[in-house]
Amino acid sequence: MTKRNLNIFIILAVVFTLILLISPFGIELLNARPGGGQSFTGGGGGSSGGGGDGIGFLIYFILSELPPQISIPLVIIIIALRIYLKRRKRSDNKTVSSSPGIQAKVNRNSSIESDIANLKTSDPNFSKVLFLDFASSIFTKYYSWKGKNEFKNLAPFLEKTELDSSRNLKNNQSITEIVIGSIKISEINNLQTVTGVAVDIEANYTLDINSKKTRYHVIERWYFNRNAGILSLEPEKLRKLVCPNCAAPADFTDNGECQSCGTHINTGEMQWFVKKHQILTQEVFSTKGLGHYAQERGTGLQTIYQSGLNTLTADFANRHNVDWNSWRTNFSNKVVSEYFLKIYDAWSKNDLLSVRNLLSDRLYESFMFWIDAYKRAGFTNKLENIKISNIQFVANDTDKFYESITVRVYATSLDYVEDKSGKVKGGSNKRPRSFSEYWTFIRRSGVETDEYDYSTCPNCGAPADKMGQAGVCEYCGTKISNGDFSWVLAIITQDEVYSG
Ligand SMILES: [Zn+2]
Ligand SMILES: [Zn+2]
Repeated sequence: MTKRNLNIFIILAVVFTLILLISPFGIELLNARPGGGQSFTGGGGGSSGGGGDGIGFLIYFILSELPPQISIPLVIIIIALRIYLKRRKRSDNKTVSSSPGIQAKVNRNSSIESDIANLKTSDPNFSKVLFLDFASSIFTKYYSWKGKNEFKNLAPFLEKTELDSSRNLKNNQSITEIVIGSIKISEINNLQTVTGVAVDIEANYTLDINSKKTRYHVIERWYFNRNAGILSLEPEKLRKLVCPNCAAPADFTDNGECQSCGTHINTGEMQWFVKKHQILTQEVFSTKGLGHYAQERGTGLQTIYQSGLNTLTADFANRHNVDWNSWRTNFSNKVVSEYFLKIYDAWSKNDLLSVRNLLSDRLYESFMFWIDAYKRAGFTNKLENIKISNIQFVANDTDKFYESITVRVYATSLDYVEDKSGKVKGGSNKRPRSFSEYWTFIRRSGVETDEYDYSTCPNCGAPADKMGQAGVCEYCGTKISNGDFSWVLAIITQDEVYSG
């Protein structure tokens, strides 16, 4: 091989690698709206698959840096390769098993799951559901109290430097309308003396400076720590921010002493606290991408099943004294299908309060995140003529306080965005679209109710028309959205991002 040929070979190899790296992955979003048609970060508009700009830059670079006898054939090869890869991707859509990105995430996720199992050996009270509720609650309070006097009530839950950061917000500034779009555990460290859990949160909020409002979209990573060997608080204490000693509602002096029991709460001794948080991305929120529909990406991907699923479902059947197959059929028909149709019907009518009893608090918030976004753009998203074609059982988890079941639902529906005048701005109101989503249902351990009359409160039987934003039945005063009486839908994950 001559030196010149070698150079070309090296360049080709580099280019080929770059193409492979660039083409399948865009910016990874934690969130994708229900129905899965599109995703957006707010800043960059559609951000559906990325890649285009990268290739453009590469071609520009090659044309400007290399002599024409090399650069022109190279550019032709790149474009041909790109077209070939796109075609192949399209024709593979039905059979593709999983992309390398998904496999890496599956591996990472299963290592997080095994770290959770490990954590449960010293803390049998640990519940992922509850922990994420606690983290959401801290996040929301942190921003809504920032710069205000109440912020000191977070003293037992924040590292000193985080506590002091409240001063960053001046008197004429405030943060409001905080909505969490999604939240997940991204890392767990079981160390000798400390347990650390990192949580990724995607959210929107409004920053008000001298009454000038700017809405932001953020992705943040929050690091929670706790001394090793501590037992998690019970659900009622963990969800609300209470004094970890006496359980009175969080009301602390500037020094972090509980106003009720007088105990000084040292961070990490009884409860999780925030060691630090990082802002991974922060952009001015824009609704530009909302009418944009990306090509459906994940429907053809192979289903990801939890490892050891058969044993876990056998345990589940034993625990509830049911025949798994008939239970599964009933759950598919009476719970999954019913929830799916009712929830998307309510979504399309912009009337989520009518299904408030079926949704967990976090999912309700996440729906509101999207509804809020559409409203700001003057749009409504409609999913109509929904037909479910298949339901697969993929995961069955249990901890001391909660059970969860995850299914993959395949469906077709009309999916489009219309503006106030009823004009279709994206998607189609004529051609049905196929998609699939992973739905996770949770229920308090020990509860046996599967289906009930969903138009009523599962506790008192009164009409479920007064659940309010908080999911509390006004007739009996009981919170329904925790899954204490029956299943609530807790998480929806798009097929292209689901990793177990
Ligand atoms: Zn106390
Ligand atoms: Zn009730």
